[in-house]
Amino acid sequence: MSLALEIALSLFFLLALFLAWRYFVLRRRVDEQDNLVKSFNLQLSTLSSERDRLATVLDQLTDGVLIADAQGKIQFANPAAKRLFSSPNPIGRTVTEIVRSHQLVEAWRRSQQIGELQSESVEIPARRQFLQLVVMPDEHAGGSLLLVQDLTRVRRLETVRRDFVSNISHELRTPLASLKALTETLQNGALSDPEAGPRFLSRIVTEVDALNQMTQELLDLSRIESGQVELKFASVSPKELLASAADRMKMQTERAGLNLRVECADDLPSVRADDMRLEQVLVNLIHNAVKFTRPGGEVALLAEADGSGVRFGVRDTGIGIPADDLPRIFERFYRVDKSRSGSGTGLGLSIARHIVEAHHGKIWADSIEGQGSTFFFTIPQS
Ligand code: ADP
Repeated sequence: MSLALEIALSLFFLLALFLAWRYFVLRRRVDEQDNLVKSFNLQLSTLSSERDRLATVLDQLTDGVLIADAQGKIQFANPAAKRLFSSPNPIGRTVTEIVRSHQLVEAWRRSQQIGELQSESVEIPARRQFLQLVVMPDEHAGGSLLLVQDLTRVRRLETVRRDFVSNISHELRTPLASLKALTETLQNGALSDPEAGPRFLSRIVTEVDALNQMTQELLDLSRIESGQVELKFASVSPKELLASAADRMKMQTERAGLNLRVECADDLPSVRADDMRLEQVLVNLIHNAVKFTRPGGEVALLAEADGSGVRFGVRDTGIGIPADDLPRIFERFYRVDKSRSGSGTGLGLSIARHIVEAHHGKIWADSIEGQGSTFFFTIPQS
């Protein structure tokens, strides 16, 4: 072989070697780039699914979340924040414009100035809201995150609980004071008095009965309110229900010198109800009608079709209820005028309301003072 050929072959061999080496280097780079793209895509999709998850959480959150920039311009607001501040389009507006409460705006300003977390609670009477705001400053971007909690319901429950305890204490004080006075009188000699002794004893029995009734009603109310009473729903005939309640209250109405009537069509649909509990509602209402109607008057039990259910009613020709008191009579312990209510506890209508609402019905009253009252409640068809 000539030298020239040998050199040419060697060169060719070297060239082939170089090309093969380049090919492998390039191939490795392409593979690396492929891997890089794959891992980038993976991170991107993880990020986007995390962002989706965060967006869902923020959407569902009942607390309001606002993000403001260093100038106080809103950059983000979740649906709860829009709802709480009644502002459907807060983006781009200022914290002051959206929050509209001097104290809350001050808390945000303080947090911006000192760069620390601040919290503030305020009652906004115009919006009947009680809000708590927590402001967290963002040290890097200079903006802030505002977390708003609506504590209106919690506050209302606290007030109800406080009122409830004070009402009970107040209601217990009167019969307990009477019992103490009566027993002391007996101790001081009335016990051996053949005329006063039995009289005081029978007054003690009356007071104990009243206390007993109150505890029973309170127990009933708390069990119904807390959902511990399980209603036994069945298909119930409105006519039979009225007849049964009328039967139970017949003697009491006769003794009070009242006429008791039932007005009910035969073709009414059955209702979905716990008959014992609905009878308890009717008996409560008839009991009140009897208590507040003078002898010679009338109590009528009514039932008529009403949309997708039946409307029951108890109408009396009694003393009626003043218009100002009418919206409050279903509250616990509410009595229009204690002097006219006799031994009532003010719990009967509250219990009736809870039972009707547990049947997905509504209860209300119409009344004209001096002419009479009608209590209505609706129960869905079965
Ligand atoms: P109470 O045990 O005191 O009767 P309720 O809750 O049943 O308690 O009733 C609340 C108040 O509503 C009563 O104290 C009474 O002032 C008024 N009221 C209820 N029913 C009648 C009625 N039929 N006629 C007039 N006032 C009524």
